[in-house]
Amino acid sequence: MAMQNLTGSCHCGAIAYTVEVDPATAITCNCSICSRLGAVWAFAPATKFKLTKGEGKLGDYQFNKHIAHHRFCPTCGIESFAQGKGKDGSDQVGINLRCCDGIDVNKLSPKQVDGRSL
Ligand SMILES: [Zn+2]
Repeated sequence: MAMQNLTGSCHCGAIAYTVEVDPATAITCNCSICSRLGAVWAFAPATKFKLTKGEGKLGDYQFNKHIAHHRFCPTCGIESFAQGKGKDGSDQVGINLRCCDGIDVNKLSPKQVDGRSL
């Protein structure tokens, strides 16, 4: 696969975004939050991400080292993306592919990341 222009949203539609990302880079993670959330993630530079709805409404959940911002909708509770830092310190966005239009996560083969051990 390759880079795709995707649209994503929370369940109720209050939060929406566009992003350029490669769904073939999908991962799942077994850390304390990802295992509960069940998200399938793909990562994009923050410059490729645009929030189109929900500015000022977004919930922000942080834990542990408070590096990642888990952005959820206060109305429907869905975490459709998260903001954090790449290995090089650049701003990155984690896209929950389960929240993206036209993506069937069952057709992806996400790499399993052992976040629990990190
Ligand atoms: Zn919502």
